[in-house]
Amino acid sequence: MTGETLTVDDLAAWMSRFAGTIRFKREVLTDLDSAIGDADHGPNMDRGMQAVIGKLDSSPHDTVDTLFRTVGMALVGSVGGASGPLYGTFFLRFGGSAAGATELDAAALAAALQSGLDGVVARGKAAAGEKTMLDALAPAVTAFTSHIDDGPAAAARAAAEAAAAGRDATEPMTATKGRASYLGRRSSGHIDPGAASTAMLFDTLAAVADAGS
Ligand code: ADP
Ligand code: MG
Repeated sequence: MTGETLTVDDLAAWMSRFAGTIRFKREVLTDLDSAIGDADHGPNMDRGMQAVIGKLDSSPHDTVDTLFRTVGMALVGSVGGASGPLYGTFFLRFGGSAAGATELDAAALAAALQSGLDGVVARGKAAAGEKTMLDALAPAVTAFTSHIDDGPAAAARAAAEAAAAGRDATEPMTATKGRASYLGRRSSGHIDPGAASTAMLFDTLAAVADAGS
């Protein structure tokens, strides 16, 4: 990384860090999902990200799109819950927006994140305020995009802050999508697990972007 771009290796390092954080926070995610779901978001994400790391270790990638095709396919193929297809789609679209690229500058990263977000919306049909991962993802992508002139590290930091605020904002919401919606109003008062894992995704992106800036 030059400070201005994230290379394929940096992006693979992001996936490793994310996998590590998910493993470390597995019980936190499970506790959140036990309050409003079926207590499997921690193991779902952990199983998925371990599958990702296994695939990335066995086959290095030269381009952003092939890297994230592997990531997305591993998640879709290994996670039975809603989060597998949603995160899988996010990464497949993220990579698809950068076909052939070997590194991403801040603007290209913003475009990739926006494609990923569009994929999650297309797949899950959620809107803002429905107490899903989207409530962390959408503000994070908006914040990243509005900071692209400051470079990837600053943009990723802004995105991580926005994702954390979005995660916290899910607490009072009533879920109207996904398993938590079965609880109706009783889903209020708990942070959405998918929004919590999404905040981790942006924390780890900020850490990787910061390391080379
Ligand atoms: P499951 O709900 O199948 O048990 P997980 O527990 O792994 O799967 O993931 C639950 C998370 O998935 C929720 O916390 C929410 O953030 C996210 N989610 C569920 N449905 C949707 C949807 N339609 N759109 C966006 N995110 C969703
Ligand atoms: Mg669950």
